[in-house]
Amino acid sequence: MSVRNAMTVDVEDYFQVQAFAHCVDRASWDTRPSRVERNVDHILAQFERANVHATFFTLGWVAERHPAIVRRIVAAGHELASHGWDHTRADSQEPEAFRQDVRRTRAVLEDIGGVAVTGYRAATFSIGARNQWAFAILRDEGYRYSSSINPIAHDLYGMPDAPRVPF
Ligand SMILES: [Zn+2]
Repeated sequence: MSVRNAMTVDVEDYFQVQAFAHCVDRASWDTRPSRVERNVDHILAQFERANVHATFFTLGWVAERHPAIVRRIVAAGHELASHGWDHTRADSQEPEAFRQDVRRTRAVLEDIGGVAVTGYRAATFSIGARNQWAFAILRDEGYRYSSSINPIAHDLYGMPDAPRVPF
């Protein structure tokens, strides 16, 4: 039996991660030095050397400010996918706000990348037992799959009883 591995990357800047949410004010994001373009370029070069193709879950916020990296991801043959607009946790959004977020992100990514965007990963794997309504909205908005449930026990996310294979 062969094992299929899936490689994925979250395309976000260092100041946008959940671990800094308590000490980095969102209003300061545009004033901070960005590293995302340089770091994605490093990853693209490593993947090219290793002949690896991956899915890049990309924030709309990043795509709007760094459209060139979106085009380089696509040009290198990787899958362009959505990581939502600005790393707001899906489980902190009401359904209508979630819908606007995933709609806006998909539209911007498709416009810049020139490819269909059908994959989605919620910020901080923030779809779980309490907000599974999100899947119907993702389907309505043109997404085909979600990589937003982590089948583990963790303080910030996770559904320990979820299947450990794609479902
Ligand atoms: Zn992320």
